[in-house]
Amino acid sequence: MTNETWGRVQQELLKRIGKNNYATWIEPLRLTQLKNGVASFEVPSHFHGNWVSRNYADQIQLHMNDAGAAVERLEFVAGLTSTASAPQKTAAKPATGGPAKARSSGQDEVLGAPLDARFTFDTFVVGKPNELANAAARRVAEGGPVSFNPLFLYGGVGLGKTHLVHAIAHEIHQRQPHLRVLYLSAEQFMYRFVQALRERQIMDFKELFRSVDVLMVDDVQFIAGKDSTQEEFFHTFNALVDQNKQIIISADRAPGEIKDLEERIKSRLQCGLVVDLHPTDYELRLGIMQQKAEVYRQQYRGLVLADGVVEFLAHRITTNVRVLEGALMRLFAFASLVGREITLDLAQDCLADILRASDRKVTIEEIQRKVAEHYNIRLSDMIGPKRVRTIARPRQIAMYLSKQLTPRSLPEIGRRFGGRDHTTIMHGVRKIEELMATDSQLSDDLQLLRRLLQG
Ligand code: ADP
Ligand code: MG
Repeated sequence: MTNETWGRVQQELLKRIGKNNYATWIEPLRLTQLKNGVASFEVPSHFHGNWVSRNYADQIQLHMNDAGAAVERLEFVAGLTSTASAPQKTAAKPATGGPAKARSSGQDEVLGAPLDARFTFDTFVVGKPNELANAAARRVAEGGPVSFNPLFLYGGVGLGKTHLVHAIAHEIHQRQPHLRVLYLSAEQFMYRFVQALRERQIMDFKELFRSVDVLMVDDVQFIAGKDSTQEEFFHTFNALVDQNKQIIISADRAPGEIKDLEERIKSRLQCGLVVDLHPTDYELRLGIMQQKAEVYRQQYRGLVLADGVVEFLAHRITTNVRVLEGALMRLFAFASLVGREITLDLAQDCLADILRASDRKVTIEEIQRKVAEHYNIRLSDMIGPKRVRTIARPRQIAMYLSKQLTPRSLPEIGRRFGGRDHTTIMHGVRKIEELMATDSQLSDDLQLLRRLLQG
């Protein structure tokens, strides 16, 4: 096979796996020999050879064969340029789909785990609960001097962390295509680290992670309690920060609240900008639903969506955006299957299970907010120390409702009320139970609040 033919194979691969992957993995390959069905490539490191072998061997082989070369096996040879060590060979293993395997699907994919092409800033609906996180993410994506390092995004399940992190990657990719962006989950980080250890390629692993311009690690809480992975993560983190490289981290809670995470890591994570995605409010959910409904309307041409359905869903499904999206998807699919208009009745039938499940999911935060609103006190007073009756009573009502409407234990509730002891919560709950019997205003209030909370 001539270099020209290999050039054509490379062009083909470029089209399939995207610019970034191509530049990172394929461009550095040098075809040195093709003999007896074995194609030998020189690679910069063992890690590189391994990675290509695992992820791209099939495609390389396929396109080489298409170009007329009879290739049965690929071989990657590292270290030819270095005099220190003898060359070591990595035979191509058949690619198997482990969690670390990057699927070469989208064009936008960066080295590491694939990005979801739909998760861009354009499709991210901004509302009060996520405006700060959105602004910070955009700021980081715009580049310029590294101002927030790391950017630490946290929030509950399905509130848009991964969406925002991917949006940053897409944006950087567009604005500064020369930057090497590495996105992966903390789980994948661990997986690769362990693999590198096992295959004695830890130096290559380090080199790879230290050579990126932007590192994004999703769901970092995963490495809590995994000591050697944490250790390695810490060193990677420091090396990149020292080089002034941008790091973006997401987690399901604040750095300080991740159990079994080393103190020094917590404090490093807190050095940059820590922003949270708050639970969605009705307006945000409605905005998201309207956007998605528009997409579905175009997809399922001819389906009629009755007034009020989107509002109904945004009102009733408050747990997380993923569930909300799933509900809408199911609704459209079902309606198109039975050829009916999407009405409130249909929604109630078709989504009965989801609606029932989200009925039970009242959160302590929502209770605190609603009760504070109802009694016209500040939300911060719910968790604050003030003891005046006008504040203490609503607080006790919120404690009572938390016990009634959520599955949380007394100590858990105590924690959400500014770290109060469980006995304080128990006292509050009893107090309200007592008063309810005699105070009809209070029991009316409770009934109303309960209705508001349960939708
Ligand atoms: P997380 O990583 O926080 O668990 P994701 O980023 O995976 O959540 O979001 C779950 C789903 O909800 C995704 O499909 C995402 O696109 C969608 N989503 C969440 N927040 C928004 C938003 N503000 N605008 C549009 N879609 C959103
Ligand atoms: Mg996520």
